[in-house]
Amino acid sequence: MKDIANSFGVAACGLVTSVLTALAVVVMSRMTGFDFFTFSIWVVVPVGALLTGFAAASGYYFGSLYFHKRAGLSLLAQMIVIAGLTQLLIYYMGYSTLVLNDGRRVSDFIPFGQYLDISLTSAHYSIGRAMTDTGEVGSFGYWLAAFQFVGFLVGGLSVYGFLATKPVCEKCNLYLRPLSKREKTFSDGDSASPYYDALFEHPVDGPEFAALIRSEEKAKAEKGVVLVKTVLHGCPKCKSQLIEEKVQVHNGSEWKDADKLNRRVTIPDGVDLLSIFRP
Ligand SMILES: [Zn+2]
Repeated sequence: MKDIANSFGVAACGLVTSVLTALAVVVMSRMTGFDFFTFSIWVVVPVGALLTGFAAASGYYFGSLYFHKRAGLSLLAQMIVIAGLTQLLIYYMGYSTLVLNDGRRVSDFIPFGQYLDISLTSAHYSIGRAMTDTGEVGSFGYWLAAFQFVGFLVGGLSVYGFLATKPVCEKCNLYLRPLSKREKTFSDGDSASPYYDALFEHPVDGPEFAALIRSEEKAKAEKGVVLVKTVLHGCPKCKSQLIEEKVQVHNGSEWKDADKLNRRVTIPDGVDLLSIFRP
């Protein structure tokens, strides 16, 4: 029963951010004349729809964490349905707020279906920096609407992806909460390995482990420097802990994820490492 209530809670959060996003898109379009939702690069890459989908789905992210509802197939199905309805809502709000120069409301004399057909097929897109106009897109406008729906979905699914990879307590079926974190930067891979390779060779409740976690390593960010982010997570219910390490390598201009070196290690029950993370 509680599980169903939580599912509704998450759906409600996603619905709220979806409606708010649709509202923001339509208000912006009415005020500035710029239609963010259909904004595309090279006509077919739906950047605006992608970002809109991301914003619309943000409610699922926070709702899922708040209600402790893990991302699963039912959430995925919900997100797809609500994404479709949100896109329709954007069209419908555009329709119901469209007023002609002579003060007549479009919705008073054209049905929604006809308006949608006209607005999709008579849309103009511009290409490139020179903003070359494509002219009316005609029936290709339906394809563009489909691309935009895919973009909108991909934006939302990236939120789902964040959720699905978050560490969880399998026993309690809850998302873990970050308790504390540490960062070390090593001048290169060789200087990182005495820490990285040795850390979990030691018992986690022993002094060597604590000393490695507490050690300070601060190399200046430049090519080849290795950054290790260590986060201690805890289950809000059974208090069991997990250490997650993410590794990045500097390529001279920015940090690049070294996903292969990322690791998650479950700490045995009853061991509390918070005191060694906090100075
Ligand atoms: Zn737990």
